[in-house]
Amino acid sequence: AAVDSAPAIVVGSGYGGAVAALRLGQAGIRTVVLEMGRLWNTAGPDGKVFCATSAPDQRSMWFRGRTEAPLASFLWLDLVNRDITPYPGVLDRVHYDNMSVYVGRGVGGGSLVNGGMAVTPLPSYFAEQFPAVDAAEMYGTYFPRARAMLGVNTVDPAWFESTDWYRFTRTSRKAAGAAGLKTTFVPNVYDFGYMQREAAGTATRSALAGEVIYGNNQGKRSLDKTYLAAALGTGNVTLHTLEKVRDITRAGDGGYLLTVDRIDTTGAVVETKQYGCTSLFLGGGSLGTTELLVRARDTGTLPDLDASVGAGWGTNGNTMVARANHVWDTVGASQSTMPVMGIDDWANTDNPVFAEIAPLPIGFETWISLYLAITKNPQRARFTYDSASGTVKLGWSAAQSAVSVAMAKKLFDRINAANATIYRYDLFGSSSKVFADDFCYHPLGGCVLGKATDAYGRVKGYSRLYVTDGSLVPGSIGVNPFVTITALAERTMARVLAEDTAP
Ligand code: FAD
Repeated sequence: AAVDSAPAIVVGSGYGGAVAALRLGQAGIRTVVLEMGRLWNTAGPDGKVFCATSAPDQRSMWFRGRTEAPLASFLWLDLVNRDITPYPGVLDRVHYDNMSVYVGRGVGGGSLVNGGMAVTPLPSYFAEQFPAVDAAEMYGTYFPRARAMLGVNTVDPAWFESTDWYRFTRTSRKAAGAAGLKTTFVPNVYDFGYMQREAAGTATRSALAGEVIYGNNQGKRSLDKTYLAAALGTGNVTLHTLEKVRDITRAGDGGYLLTVDRIDTTGAVVETKQYGCTSLFLGGGSLGTTELLVRARDTGTLPDLDASVGAGWGTNGNTMVARANHVWDTVGASQSTMPVMGIDDWANTDNPVFAEIAPLPIGFETWISLYLAITKNPQRARFTYDSASGTVKLGWSAAQSAVSVAMAKKLFDRINAANATIYRYDLFGSSSKVFADDFCYHPLGGCVLGKATDAYGRVKGYSRLYVTDGSLVPGSIGVNPFVTITALAERTMARVLAEDTAP
């Protein structure tokens, strides 16, 4: 087959891929971005790009016959999920033994489906996780650069205190306060000025219309509107969608050869392409990048990859839980989908937890307080190549999830005790499941910085092969991760473009 060549190829268009594409394009380097998902810029039959959360259609999930929403049930009824036609929808749930991982698919990766919480980690915990990284440079240069480019902003506190749309957050804050716990505002990339216009009835509703996990039609500064728009604006970056990188090998001239399946919207492979490049930047995310490199090492196409490729994976300690409030503590029928506050008990060395106060925007009063807890779970797992099936497996066990659950339970037992409230038992499928211990939103690690790569994301054993995404983070960062992933990618690109020979 004919080989398409470019000086630089970027795999994936999430945070790590988008930063790489922009900085390469600005440096005048012709760059091709390969993204397995679609470009989300054309309206469907309802006039909207993304489908409604309450009425998901084929646009909701990645090649499914039925949606798999994180909250499967309410009062044990399967009210949330719907049968759909398989299609390259925007949200994927990747199943491994004992753990499934939600990821975004499309131009913009996770930025299309996430809650937009843009949190900079505590310097002390960042230094603990990245001892070889100059923290002063990160906090002085790369975190501010990332936040500015991502369009991070904060909710107006006066509006927050007065609006019905954040009653659910104020109710959770009150319950946390009763237990002596500290809450803190967290920034977001959703445009809060736009949100206030939604509330005033002068702008089309998106965050105030339940939109989030299947995409936001308005208001969200996803990567296609920030980094990727700027990357395309350089004139040096080309985007190829519905193209999935399957294999990477070394080319005879010292560059890289990629085998890529182009699919149509039914998922059928319509063409298998070969791409060649001098420099290869991997931004497929913790799952995508790690899978490519584990397969390359263990099938012998890149045999010199380090033994630590595949190791150091964690869930960022994620676990979801819900409490039932008293009848007088309402959470409101109207809830914004963009979280703006967390319960910050990370300084509690016995049991560090940061819990996002999450919405449950289903349009009627539920008295439910929902949380996504980030716990300091030290458990890590490894990806391995299974030659019998030709697939990459993840060795995460239920016992490893139990560590996150135990930590979250300690915190929420305290809140329940102080408020004389109880957990909800009806939200996560089975009749006794209080903690969601089988899925996560924050997959991190697999090609850890300083282990599988050098201190800047250069992959050990090869030249001009780089990792720029969440697989660099060693399994935990203590807060929602995309600001950290973006800032680390900025640091990698600054170093690589300054030091490595231009492709
Ligand atoms: P991704 O953003 O996952 O991008 C990887 C891209 O590469 C994807 O587009 C994928 O389709 C593509 N790809 C993968 N493999 C291949 C291949 N072989 N060939 C071609 N393309 C490929 N984080 C926060 O900080 N704040 C939040 O509020 C938040 N909320 C979340 C809510 C949900 C529902 C989810 C699912 C995640 C949330 N996250 C949040 C997590 C955040 O979105 C991720 O940490 C982030 O997107 C990871 O960035 P990345 O660059 O590592 O990879």
